[in-house]
Amino acid sequence: MLRHKLLSFINRQLQRLIVEHVGIDLGTVNTLIYKEKHGVILNEPSAIAINKLSGEVIAVGRPALEMLGREPIDTVVYRPMKDGSIADYDLAEKMLKAFLKLAGIGRRCKFLHVVTGTPSLSTSVERRALKAAAKSIGARWVSLVEEGLAAALGAGIINNATGATMVVDIGGGTSDITIASNSGIIYSSSIPMAGNAMTQAVLEVIQRKYKMLIGEQAAEAVKIKLGAALLDPLQENDELMPVIGKAQPDFRVREFFVSASDIIQALEKPVNTIVEAVRQAVEQTTPNVAADLYRNGITLTGGGSLLRGIDKKFNEELQLPVTIAQRPLEAVVLGIGKLLASPLLLERYQIKEHSIEWDNEKASSYSTI
Ligand code: ADP
Ligand code: MG
Repeated sequence: MLRHKLLSFINRQLQRLIVEHVGIDLGTVNTLIYKEKHGVILNEPSAIAINKLSGEVIAVGRPALEMLGREPIDTVVYRPMKDGSIADYDLAEKMLKAFLKLAGIGRRCKFLHVVTGTPSLSTSVERRALKAAAKSIGARWVSLVEEGLAAALGAGIINNATGATMVVDIGGGTSDITIASNSGIIYSSSIPMAGNAMTQAVLEVIQRKYKMLIGEQAAEAVKIKLGAALLDPLQENDELMPVIGKAQPDFRVREFFVSASDIIQALEKPVNTIVEAVRQAVEQTTPNVAADLYRNGITLTGGGSLLRGIDKKFNEELQLPVTIAQRPLEAVVLGIGKLLASPLLLERYQIKEHSIEWDNEKASSYSTI
């Protein structure tokens, strides 16, 4: 027994010398990289700028996104991820390679082990593409985990709470709902309604009501400054924000003022859709799980959980305690970080090979309990 323990300890230490363990959260909007013992070493928008003629990579991450809508004529800015999965394999691979280089991963002659998250309802094809992308950037081994589970670990709620807890990860493309306990996932579902849909709703209301065209980043800024999940009953005056755009139909450039109440109204639909998906998840639970959720409540993660008042809205609608994770944008990659530090936890929570073969239809039946 003692000999066995000693051997496995030596094995682990040797492995540490020759293997570099890295966690990647390849999100629709943001990509984060975590390195064992260093923490989060990269946090950049999932964007890449390419020269149209030569195919050369001009920029990745923030500098690439800043070019969006003002690209030089020979340059195109792409976002290779859509709804949490790879939409353009070649570009995703190029972007990941550039991010790894930026983060200084793979410089030393070590074998690379990548742990990465995937949305709960990703198809077997999408999961295979993710694994292949990780292999193409030099990973010798790739482990996949469900993002919702990683978010729950990162937010520190499984392993702490007894019984079941729920995490709602509101990202850019999808909102992922996961009910999990220390033993694993009890329920998971995903809807294509999250931060990007909220920004789209802002663009639409500005076009419809103000007859103005603005850029995506400007709409994002309006959403962040004025957006909320609820009207604040204490606020007497409607807050206004100056924005520059192009008037329709004459396309003259001018400054105009957007009101918070218009933005909050525009966000009602996407926010309610997410609330309803969570309501459905709660309704489908067994009485035991429902009782656990009543005690443990819901934790919100992902950038969308930074929308003002979203915790209060969920609480009012669902009558369950709601908290926002301490580092909502990093929750998934921090959870992956915990898995990197514990081979036992990784073994328990990683998606096993046979489940990678599941197709979407089977996976959705898995989401009903
Ligand atoms: P993903 O994991 O899909 O890449 P993230 O969890 O990084 O997504 O969240 C990105 C989304 O969060 C974007 O749609 C962004 O607009 C939104 N977001 C970030 N900060 C805020 C904020 N303060 N208020 C509302 N939405 C926000
Ligand atoms: Mg995410």
